[in-house]
Amino acid sequence: MSEPPLWKRALSWLEILAWIGVSLFLLDRLGPQLSALTGIEVGATETPSFVATTLAGDTLSADGLRGEVAVVNFWATWCGPCRLEMPALQGLHEDYAERGVTVLGLSTDVDGSAIPPFLEERGITYPVGRATPAQRQAFGGVRGIPTTLILDREGRVRHRVVGYFAPPAMRAAVERLLAEEVPGEEAEPDVIPTTPASATPPLPASVTWTPQQPNQGSLLRVTLQSPDRALASVEGTLGGEALRFHAPRSPTAATGELASLAPVPVDAEDPLTATLIVRYRDGGEERLPLRIPVGPGDFRHEALQVAPEFGSPLTGERRARLDRDIARAAAVSRAAMDTPPLWSAEAVLPRPARVTSGFGNGRVFNGQVSSRHMGLDLDGATGDTVRAPTRGVVELVDDFLLAGSIVYLNHGGGLVSGYFHLSDQLVSAGDTVRSGQPIGRVGATGRVTGPHLHWVVRYGRTSLDPRSLLEVLSQPRRGAPLPR
Ligand SMILES: [Zn+2]
Repeated sequence: MSEPPLWKRALSWLEILAWIGVSLFLLDRLGPQLSALTGIEVGATETPSFVATTLAGDTLSADGLRGEVAVVNFWATWCGPCRLEMPALQGLHEDYAERGVTVLGLSTDVDGSAIPPFLEERGITYPVGRATPAQRQAFGGVRGIPTTLILDREGRVRHRVVGYFAPPAMRAAVERLLAEEVPGEEAEPDVIPTTPASATPPLPASVTWTPQQPNQGSLLRVTLQSPDRALASVEGTLGGEALRFHAPRSPTAATGELASLAPVPVDAEDPLTATLIVRYRDGGEERLPLRIPVGPGDFRHEALQVAPEFGSPLTGERRARLDRDIARAAAVSRAAMDTPPLWSAEAVLPRPARVTSGFGNGRVFNGQVSSRHMGLDLDGATGDTVRAPTRGVVELVDDFLLAGSIVYLNHGGGLVSGYFHLSDQLVSAGDTVRSGQPIGRVGATGRVTGPHLHWVVRYGRTSLDPRSLLEVLSQPRRGAPLPR
């Protein structure tokens, strides 16, 4: 009972979310302008000029590293995916230093005093310095961490990975650059020619996901990148639902990239595992195993004064009515699985109101946990406006036994959202709605004790915490946002 009240926690959560949104927005806007100012464009042949002073007092510069393959990693002590990558970077340092590979870590930590003990504890011995604004600009504006850049022996950026860089892909990239001929070192004419470039193995496909450690009951975005081989299709099942991979609509998305939303069910075990079947245009096929670490859901117990919405058994006609409602909701989920993604990165809360009952909470009635709350209750008075959180098509406008007047939106790519207990439905089936568009009004229809909005978000038929929709959709890039 020492915890702050629910509304305070909801508010601070909203503040954080808004703040992340603003930072991403600003970084997005400033990045290209900084690039323009410094004359550097992000591209495969960019040759950044930079100087770094390591914590040990050494100086590493672009000029000094010419002739070596350099792996530059922007990171921070507080960043989970950065920590995951560090053993692989240390491995590169240990195994490749003699072959002319330099690993350089550039920490974006605001407080530098945390860095040395952090490195010592993890046995990190590659050079680490503190990132400067000039370095971020030199690399075309580092917008999120981790960001890893791999420079060839002529100092050109050949790989730029934002987000977790899978160790096999990192090693393969370094190997390829080492296999390239060094400029100015002509192969001796009477020696057997070096391995042609086409014989170097293609970079393997890698999988990343956002958020890095999802909690039970949250929406996830899984991204597959294949830098060298064109993708034909990707199939897989995660959390009991088929994945729906599509090319991201974001203009900043890399080519050779496919992404799918995915559910982390409320009862998901840690880790959540899956196997993706990746098919390439060249006819090749590959199986990629996934192990996603899952954190516990923040679920509570709530004592109810009256029978919960879905608690008491129904019989006869009412049971038949409920079955009909369930079948109609299931049809909405099927439609969403068959619709390409319609959502926009611009995502808003349907109501700027306090949370009166959180997602996943156990409902205690007569001393027994009788059900789990599979939506999010947002406060409101009858008549208050309910808005679409993001772009979609109105799939169903109906009157349900328990949920009352409902609107279901199909956002495509398997994503569904629902709005229950409405007093008014302001849209019709088939309408396309944009983010923030009014779709209904708060009411107390169906089985409820008072007016509020019960908001549902599903991937396929799996209900998820609606707040994770905002988190995932409004983060177009992988990797953690920079602190500023
Ligand atoms: Zn509810």
